[in-house]
Amino acid sequence: MKFLLLFLLAWVVWRLLRPPAPRREMPPPPPPFTREHGGEKMLCCAHCGVYAPEREMLRAQDGRYYCSPEHLAAGEKSE
Ligand SMILES: [Zn+2]
Repeated sequence: MKFLLLFLLAWVVWRLLRPPAPRREMPPPPPPFTREHGGEKMLCCAHCGVYAPEREMLRAQDGRYYCSPEHLAAGEKSE
């Protein structure tokens, strides 16, 4: 019984001496719909989510951007 108490005491001391666990770093915020890349505005394809420079994107009538004519058609069809 005394051994158990000693073990418990050692455990408590060990817990107290142990440095606190490092805090988990906050996860990075989700990427915004647009972001800059090399000074160029990047846009997200509304269909597949890929990022491409704004000038390479296709703008749908509803204002959303798509990476290719196929995705433009697919995105408008899905609505
Ligand atoms: Zn796409």
